[in-house]
Amino acid sequence: MTDNKGKLIVISGPAGSGKGTVVKEILALDDRYSLSVSATTRTTRPGELHGREYYFISRDEFETRLAAGRMLEYNVYCDEYYGTPLDEMEAALSEGKYFILEIEVNGASRVRELYPEALLIMVTPPDYDTLEARLRGRGTETEDVIQRRLATSRDELARLSMFDHILVNEDGKFHDLAETIVSIVDGTPHDESKVENNPSFAEKFFGNK
Ligand code: 5GP
Repeated sequence: MTDNKGKLIVISGPAGSGKGTVVKEILALDDRYSLSVSATTRTTRPGELHGREYYFISRDEFETRLAAGRMLEYNVYCDEYYGTPLDEMEAALSEGKYFILEIEVNGASRVRELYPEALLIMVTPPDYDTLEARLRGRGTETEDVIQRRLATSRDELARLSMFDHILVNEDGKFHDLAETIVSIVDGTPHDESKVENNPSFAEKFFGNK
């Protein structure tokens, strides 16, 4: 990664953080960016397309790709495999792209180990109640899946310290957030969102939940 002009940017955050919408907005704003399409074994949601949101593949196929060393990182999230294909990332970075990985925190941690210079950004809803409302409002998951995603959000926010910035995605503000991320990537200091300057974010987020 040090041999080329590209940048690696990880955007993580609890399910319901709206990070997918923010990432789409960054791609629409600025054509230096491209997005990694992950592989997953989970089933498609309405409106999702193979090769656009994800490569939807079987467990056997996922395990074959893993064994062949074709994944940069992977994780099992709520019983399903998710992983970043290595070849697309290498091509994008060598073309000088700003390559976004939209992945959960275990994957982010692996990227931090492999590429210490990557920029890691956590996008989160303002608080737990908003997170729960957004997950339910989506109407695409069963109650069991919603509960597991809510529980996972606790582990995710407990591991904030590996990130560079934490950015709150207020309702309706995804455009502003996309612009903020672009300016951070371009080197504008943004001290108020630095993780080290928000030491008790998780406590405030969960309150007495
Ligand atoms: P969803 O099922 O809501 O699309 O994704 C579930 C979680 O998996 C999200 O936090 C998403 O960012 C994460 N995810 C998607 N692709 C990958 C990947 O390639 N690797 C890892 N580690 N997580 C991923």
